Amino acid sequence: MRPASLKRQTSAGGIIFKNEGEESSVALVAVRAGAVWTLPKGLIEKGEKPEETAVREVREETGLEARIVDFLGSVSYWYFMRNENTKYRKTVYYYLMELQDGAPEDHDREVDEVAWFSVGDALKVLTYRGDIEIMGRAKDILRDARKSGSPAKGGCPPFGI
Ligand code: ATP
Repeated sequence: MRPASLKRQTSAGGIIFKNEGEESSVALVAVRAGAVWTLPKGLIEKGEKPEETAVREVREETGLEARIVDFLGSVSYWYFMRNENTKYRKTVYYYLMELQDGAPEDHDREVDEVAWFSVGDALKVLTYRGDIEIMGRAKDILRDARKSGSPAKGGCPPFGI
């Protein structure tokens, strides 16, 4: 067999939150017949900024409109596509996004389910280690924002990563 090709992929996605009273809820997506809970994301298209991809992919995958309030960092992993004999090195940029509008019932068929979780429950159900790390950062930011009395930081996200 020929040696595998190596390719890079870059995606962007986010943690959508809504504040209800003292608590923040976050939206997760179920994939792989509901066996994996993860964060919505998708490939950055040519000419698109990561922030634009995150907003678009979140809307498409979850049916939720959200605005970016902070940058949460990136996660990288390898995966192998047997039918292409290709190893992918993937990097995903994640943003903290505040719910504006929309309904999770309007999610697309790429995902099996969209559901709201408390941050604590999200940390328990998330499958991938990278997602758990990113959720940990969101937890800290949301807690600090609640302490300071503002629902979201509202800071300027870093453009042009
Ligand atoms: P995208 O949503 O960016 O278009 P995709 O749905 O085509 O991507 P991935 O979600 O990256 O593809 O999944 C490709 C492979 O990587 C799968 O085997 C999946 O289980 C695995 N994978 C997905 N997310 C992670 C992660 N955060 N950490 C490790 N492996 C992951």
